[in-house]
Amino acid sequence: MLTRREFLEAGATASTAIALAPYGCAGDRSAAGVVVNDIHSQLNATRVYRVVKPASADAVVQLVRSAMQEGRPLSIAGGRHAMGGQQFGSETTLVDMGSMRRVLGFDAARGLIDVEAGIEWPELMRYLVDAQQGAARAWGIRQKQTGADRLSIGGALAANAHGRGLKFKPFIRDVESFVLVDADGTPRTCSREENAELFRLAIGGYGLFGVITAVRLRLAPRVKVQRQVQILEIDALMPAFEQRIAAGFTYGDFQYHTDPDSPDFLRKGVFSCYRPVAATTPIQEGQKELSPDDWNELIYLAHADRTRAFQAYSRYYLSTSGQVYWSDTHQLGPYLDDYHRALDRRLGASEPATELITVRHHPSHRAGRRELSRVGQTAVCVRDLQPARRPQPRGARARGCGIPAAHRRRDPLRRELLPDLSSVRDAAAGGDVLPAIPGVSARQAALRSRREIPERLVPALQAHVRRAAVVRAAKDA
Ligand SMILES: Cc1cc2nc3c(=O)[nH]c(=O)nc-3n(C[C@H](O)[C@H](O)[C@H](O)COP(=O)(O)OP(=O)(O)OC[C@H]3O[C@@H](n4cnc5c(N)ncnc54)[C@H](O)[C@@H]3O)c2cc1C
Repeated sequence: MLTRREFLEAGATASTAIALAPYGCAGDRSAAGVVVNDIHSQLNATRVYRVVKPASADAVVQLVRSAMQEGRPLSIAGGRHAMGGQQFGSETTLVDMGSMRRVLGFDAARGLIDVEAGIEWPELMRYLVDAQQGAARAWGIRQKQTGADRLSIGGALAANAHGRGLKFKPFIRDVESFVLVDADGTPRTCSREENAELFRLAIGGYGLFGVITAVRLRLAPRVKVQRQVQILEIDALMPAFEQRIAAGFTYGDFQYHTDPDSPDFLRKGVFSCYRPVAATTPIQEGQKELSPDDWNELIYLAHADRTRAFQAYSRYYLSTSGQVYWSDTHQLGPYLDDYHRALDRRLGASEPATELITVRHHPSHRAGRRELSRVGQTAVCVRDLQPARRPQPRGARARGCGIPAAHRRRDPLRRELLPDLSSVRDAAAGGDVLPAIPGVSARQAALRSRREIPERLVPALQAHVRRAAVVRAAKDA
């Protein structure tokens, strides 16, 4: 059976690859030369030839066939949240799945639902709740991505997404079958039995194998779950996960302390898990939840004062321990479109900043490690990402200083930057803090991480690098 890697390698050397490469598209539905970008990182501005929104599977078939005749490549977008630009291609015709969001069928006896691939999680969940009002036994989705909701089912399938299930396999487990319009414009039903190879390749295939028009999902019984929250140190984390799983908890996550200046950085975190409870357990009216304004404030603190952000977040989470939720809707959460623009304004940013979410897989088993080394990656332990623990001089922690003075004295660059540190430390929270690091070159970033220079010292570091460059240029002259 062909793997995705083999497919891509074959595609790079031969013109016979089955990817949707040399196809074009007729039609006059949108303007030529449209600049599109992803929603979250906004780092992928791409000029596509045009954007087309098919409203049915037949329209997708026509689109692919006429694209083939025209000889123009296609790209495919759902909710446009992928941060690597996988949904766009320069000068392609962009197939926007946003008009294909209907529920096509719901089998309440077997727990199966058929949807068009452009439907997004909130609509799908709303449909299920409404369709099962008063039912003694209801179905819900098993898992979705966390952190954003307006993601399409086609996009989840193309990324083989995962949620925060403690023992769930990724999204592929929830997919019974799908319909894919392949490079010839032929709709193919793919399942574990039918077109099995295509089924395996297209899930996690990022749109390379064709346009998915419809998906049949296997649902899970909709149950009530209770949240339990603890603050944990990293050393206790894996045993705690194991205990929770053994005790029947089904969902969970761990949110790290993110202040690199704190000795708790990537060591302490908020551990929240959810376990099924009896259907009769009430969900209290007016349970605590964060409003969009609360989230905005937390996001601001997460940039301006990460220790305070962690404290506020932990306080809130601990106060919700014991609250009861539904197993499907507890996976929804607020996502503030364009939140970084508001943040940039509040932080007085000179450049627009952004954030990327990265994922680090840490296979503990040998086969996983071997696969990682095969693709040139090394398995790392969270511990590898943490600064080494150093002895804390008395009082240093209380002053919020994570790096001992002795270490700083030895480092000439840090010594040079120290005056800047004292001026920013006492300033009002946020006023002086840099919004991420858009203006930092790779060299500066490497220097910064090698010397453990906090983000707020980046302007001073940049000035230092510029000064060094001027000195070098003067010497060369
Ligand atoms: C804030 C945030 C949180 C996230 N959290 C998680 C998480 O918890 N777990 C996780 O696994 N991922 C997570 N992701 C990543 C996310 O799951 C993927 O980027 C997903 O593909 C986005 O879906 P989308 O509908 O926005 O797809 P798009 O961004 O529009 O497209 C993504 C890919 O899917 C392809 N595609 C989309 N629709 C179709 C279709 N109908 N047919 C064929 N190909 C198609 C596109 O060509 C592209 O390659 C997160 C992303 C963000 C921005």
